[in-house]
Amino acid sequence: MSNTTNSTTGNPTNSATNGVTSNAMSSAMSSAMSNVTSSTTSSTTSGTTSGTNAVEERIAFIGLGHMGGPMAMNLAKAGYAVTAFDVSPAALERAGQAGVMAAPSAAAAVEGATVVISMLPASQHVEALYLGEGGLLSHLAAGALVIDCSTIAPASAQRVSLAAETRGIAMLDAPVSGGTAGAAAGTLTFIVGGEAQALERARPVLGAMGKNVFHMGGAGAGQVAKLCNNMALGVIMAVTGEALALGVSHGLDPQALSAMMAVSTGRSWATEVCNPWPGVKPEAPASRGYAGGFGNDLMLKDLGLAVEAALQVGAAVPLGELARNLYALNSRAGRGRLDFSSVQQLVAGDGGPLG
Ligand code: NAD
Repeated sequence: MSNTTNSTTGNPTNSATNGVTSNAMSSAMSSAMSNVTSSTTSSTTSGTTSGTNAVEERIAFIGLGHMGGPMAMNLAKAGYAVTAFDVSPAALERAGQAGVMAAPSAAAAVEGATVVISMLPASQHVEALYLGEGGLLSHLAAGALVIDCSTIAPASAQRVSLAAETRGIAMLDAPVSGGTAGAAAGTLTFIVGGEAQALERARPVLGAMGKNVFHMGGAGAGQVAKLCNNMALGVIMAVTGEALALGVSHGLDPQALSAMMAVSTGRSWATEVCNPWPGVKPEAPASRGYAGGFGNDLMLKDLGLAVEAALQVGAAVPLGELARNLYALNSRAGRGRLDFSSVQQLVAGDGGPLG
């Protein structure tokens, strides 16, 4: 139960009201679990819920960070009118150079907008942005579409969705996979929860920022699916680091060990692409001091959300809990802002990357 301040308006927003039970969550999830995988290039470009078509959508974009900045720029590049707000003037200026119009506040950004996209750090930011007196939902006209791409608690997504629905506003939770490289290249994967009709309207907009869309079910289902993926990723990265450290401690070459694993049953994205051992993959964050990539503290947040989601339904996630603690230790060791593959450093061992 925490009160946060709406940074858009300065209004206090109670971010803890939770009328969403795990039963409500289960029924929302079971309502539309058909997986729709479609390339957005072949997606619908018409048939919107409000009678507008894709080119007429006017987009407000809130949160121009590592992910949101390039996403907003890709929308502008695709020809959309994009007005954006970020609490960071530097982020606004960067996006401005790529054709994104800067607004002095989130409320100003959504004036006249038909679609609002948010890409913020965590649940409290998203709830503070949309809910409460003066929150963005009170600034939007009925018929608007809200797409929140942040990774947040499924229950938070459901709270915003419910509040939107009561105002005649459609809402999708659409967290992404693909990282900063995918955001820049416009090849993100959107993992979506919400009504199918709203998703059809959103497809052309999502297509300007990404390549794949998975419809996982009703409100909150996109967030649940995203947390499942990131929990698996967090565990796999940590155990890959552990395996490499074990091998190196026995005198193995990390490059040779990784090459073998990459074509054996221990293979994964962590071995093949984002290898956590410095120097094994020149293009991986590990080979540039773990700079860039997906921050340790974002992985820590996602694992916390996964554990919370497990508690809600009584699921057992022993490895997810263990991994959450490992990333917490890595953060406390001063590597919170580095790529999450820096978890390798916890188990570097003698002769390891710490030297
Ligand atoms: P970021 O910290 O780089 O960006 C967040 C931006 O939001 C910042 O520019 C910040 O100034 C802005 N902001 C914060 N509060 C605001 C407010 N009230 N109004 C307007 N702007 C506000 O984070 P990011 O890496 O872009 O990640 C955003 C979300 O995407 C997170 O939920 C993260 O978990 C998720 N995600 C990140 C990655 C990645 O590789 N970085 C990958 C997938 C998903």
